[in-house]
Amino acid sequence: MTVNELPDASLPARKRIALVAHDHEKQHLLEWAREHREILSQHQLCATGTTGGLLAEELGLPIERLRSGPLGGDQQIGARIADYGIDMLLFFWDPLEPQPHDPDVRALLRIAVVWNIPVACNRSTADFLVSSPLFSGPYDRQVAPHVSA
Ligand code: PGA
Repeated sequence: MTVNELPDASLPARKRIALVAHDHEKQHLLEWAREHREILSQHQLCATGTTGGLLAEELGLPIERLRSGPLGGDQQIGARIADYGIDMLLFFWDPLEPQPHDPDVRALLRIAVVWNIPVACNRSTADFLVSSPLFSGPYDRQVAPHVSA
């Protein structure tokens, strides 16, 4: 897809949600996802490798597993965001430990802001997102002028 072929930027009611959690945050994401299993089941889920395996086991829902974060999973998600293939990012990154792929973490957070998708980096923000009617409704996402065709 070239910049002249950008599709409609609106986010659909059934969202494509990417989930990522660093090792010390995996338990928090699993607990949150268990609590919100029913609403998550109405959306299309993908995740980095280890996170995806744990979530699939925990939720019994289909989850597309990408590469593990340190092996390129964050970059795969970032590329999908830029191609309008991900509508929301739940990224429980670890604020207390350096990661081998910190540049990828920063790049993923950056690209999510560039493309103006909703991002939750902790449980309370994820709770705010999931309790919004926009979580399971359409949203007229605007992309910044510098990324429009
Ligand atoms: P993982 O990757 O789900 O494979 O652990 C997440 C990360 O560390 O970015």
